[in-house]
Amino acid sequence: MVLSRWLGATLGLFALFVRLVCQKFPSFTEKWYAKGFYPLIRGILDYTINLLPFPAVYLIIAALLGWGYLFLKGLFRSNCGFAQKLKTLLRSVLNFSGWLIFFFLFLWGLNYYRIPLYQQLSLQAKPIGQRVLLAEMQDTQKKLLQIRNRIQPDSLALVRSSKFFVRKETLRKEMKQLLSGLGYSWRGRPTVKQLYPAGTMRKMGIFGIYLPFSGEGYLDPSLHPVEKSFTLAHELAHGFGVTDEGEANFVAWLVCSESKDSFLNYVGELKLFRYQLRDLQKMDAEAYKAFVGAMHPSIKADILDIQRSNLEIRPYFLELSRKSNDLYLKSQGVRAGVASYAQLPMLVFAWKSGKNQN
Ligand SMILES: [Zn+2]
Repeated sequence: MVLSRWLGATLGLFALFVRLVCQKFPSFTEKWYAKGFYPLIRGILDYTINLLPFPAVYLIIAALLGWGYLFLKGLFRSNCGFAQKLKTLLRSVLNFSGWLIFFFLFLWGLNYYRIPLYQQLSLQAKPIGQRVLLAEMQDTQKKLLQIRNRIQPDSLALVRSSKFFVRKETLRKEMKQLLSGLGYSWRGRPTVKQLYPAGTMRKMGIFGIYLPFSGEGYLDPSLHPVEKSFTLAHELAHGFGVTDEGEANFVAWLVCSESKDSFLNYVGELKLFRYQLRDLQKMDAEAYKAFVGAMHPSIKADILDIQRSNLEIRPYFLELSRKSNDLYLKSQGVRAGVASYAQLPMLVFAWKSGKNQN
């Protein structure tokens, strides 16, 4: 009886206990959760609500609103006193939070405690010095120019064509092949949908999100096609059980840069290039200015076009959304917080160095 009144809270505590055990024993988590339980969840979601032609989160929001309305109506209409009502309300909030924690962790979140991808690939992401960074940037720029000649030979900004569905299928297929090639355990066919109304997510300060409760990734439909394609790849990686932001970026970069689709090659390299530019800017403002001054006009035009598009919709509370994401990541044991997104240049350098040694 007591347990049923506190079911959500109890399950929440149980999930937190499981989380502690998983955190302590990554190999065990890899075995029972990443290779056992999560694939089962993936299978159920992939062939039920994820097949819906619209974001399943709409259903979740509708159900929560309906439930909230009925709960509050029942509470106000009941004959018990104020203190009793307050108690019921508090208990419900605790139970609700417990359910949230329980579902978050079991539907996806325990993947945070599996063996990290970079450990499985023996990637050592170490900070890179300015000389190496500059050499890497020259290399990226050379590649970008070669790819760009294939997709649009003029030096005007890329034509903004959006082939969302084609790229989703391509990226999913190629990501499966890539993860298999890396020996990284994955299952299912995760999906990413565009979440309307357009601009909503960007106003909250994010381009995309993977929602464990629906098992779907979402992205903002208003994004620049280059930014959208990379976010699509990033959220797909989350769906395949890659939780860490730096790792999801790395998988997105790798799948794009090795894709058969030239546009995706460009998307991957340009994202890397922009992270490298940011690193150089932080390291040495003068060197950054000189590099940008000598940058090829076509690449510069594309970066400016993306920046312009990104500035069209400003988040309501930039600092708040950044801080809450930071807090969220840190609460999941990602010590670097939002800085983990920016590990891309280091991970790519470590990946290339490892490849050259073999
Ligand atoms: Zn992410």
